[in-house]
Amino acid sequence: MNIILLAPPAAGKGTQAELLKETYQINHISTGNLLREVSQEESDFGKKIKAVLESGSLVSDDIVLAILERYLDQIDCSHLLLDGFPRNLYQAEKLDDMLAKKNSQIDFVIELDVPYSILLDRITGRRLCKSCGKSYNMNIDSLKPKIEGICDSCGNELYTRSDDNQETFQVRYQEYFEKTQPLIDYYQKQGKLKVVDGTLSKEEIFSKIQAILGKR
Ligand SMILES: [Zn+2]
Repeated sequence: MNIILLAPPAAGKGTQAELLKETYQINHISTGNLLREVSQEESDFGKKIKAVLESGSLVSDDIVLAILERYLDQIDCSHLLLDGFPRNLYQAEKLDDMLAKKNSQIDFVIELDVPYSILLDRITGRRLCKSCGKSYNMNIDSLKPKIEGICDSCGNELYTRSDDNQETFQVRYQEYFEKTQPLIDYYQKQGKLKVVDGTLSKEEIFSKIQAILGKR
């Protein structure tokens, strides 16, 4: 059972990835983590990746694909959870080729669907504790601190991250939307796309995902 999780920023993808990892015997693949690992290697390839990451420029599709392929060569390709990958149609097509070579395939593509206005509320309401890092949300009743601007756990001041604002989020969301829409169409045509209402609680979302994975 190979799964791809697709979700816009702040849709709760990380939480669902954790729950899937805890519940199923599954190889969680984050290409961001793979890139960081490879960049620590002493090889020429490792050094090249490190230089790209340090320059802050975007890692090319072909580099990401090469790293993924190398990793897939080392593991069992029948229990994968892909998180943050593929990012565009080119990567998706190459991924299908790679898996086909291993007699494997993507089985489910789960898209967490959350309306833009709700994502924006989550982003702009986010507050973090300066001291212990605990996160709160002023736009979600269950996540508000007891006293505004003060951490419940340690009593220190809360702050807003500089990129948790409407302008930055709008750019990130637009980019996600433009790159992901072709992916969604691609997997829909293959009959693999499953859309889950991402506005539900994390437990409800997870039970919907489990229902999808169970129906094989
Ligand atoms: Zn705190």
